[in-house]
Amino acid sequence: MARYTDAVCRLCRREGEKLFLKGERCFTPKCAFEKRGYPPGQHGKTASARPGRESDYAKQLRAKQKARRVYGVYERQFRRYYGTALRMRGLTGMNLLTILETRLSNVVYRLGFASSRSQARILVNHGHFLVNGARADIPSLGVKVDDVISVRDQSKDSTYFKNLREEAEGRNVPTWLARDLTNLNGRMLRLPERSEIDGNLNEQLIVEYYSR
Ligand code: SF4
Repeated sequence: MARYTDAVCRLCRREGEKLFLKGERCFTPKCAFEKRGYPPGQHGKTASARPGRESDYAKQLRAKQKARRVYGVYERQFRRYYGTALRMRGLTGMNLLTILETRLSNVVYRLGFASSRSQARILVNHGHFLVNGARADIPSLGVKVDDVISVRDQSKDSTYFKNLREEAEGRNVPTWLARDLTNLNGRMLRLPERSEIDGNLNEQLIVEYYSR
């Protein structure tokens, strides 16, 4: 599977907005988008100075790419998620966002156990988390209502997790999750509502993209 190995800040510049892919750095003046808020590449600056009218297809493509990049999902998997969302009851776009939002790596990020989704993916990959007491090292694992996500006992002694209680204090947890910082665990209380998912994603355009 192709891996994205280029500088992630280019993704924000390509999408024309901050996607907050690098944790704390995104909130500092070091943010590449703050310094160069135009598309990457040789002609990025000149292209942004002469914006043309975007086609419907371009808008749909950008909406899909943005969601993929925010959640760090590869194209093939994203398409699979769309297929699953299509077969579920309810609105396909909302189903898709729910699938993305309830991935284990995203839940770990939402619980404040990581400063970015990419960091959450690495922590999950390295086996630091349990779901309902069982080791869970697959970032794409779907978390269900009432599942308990906890930090593995052996990991709690590491410097990262020792410092985490203090660092995570300032990170807000959405109301569909409950967090216990003392014991470093969290529970999914219910599925997220649309208003609780990044408002800047346009699921309707994503559905249009895949329905062409
Ligand atoms: Fe995007 Fe964060 Fe990089 Fe800024 S620092 S360009 S918000 S990933």
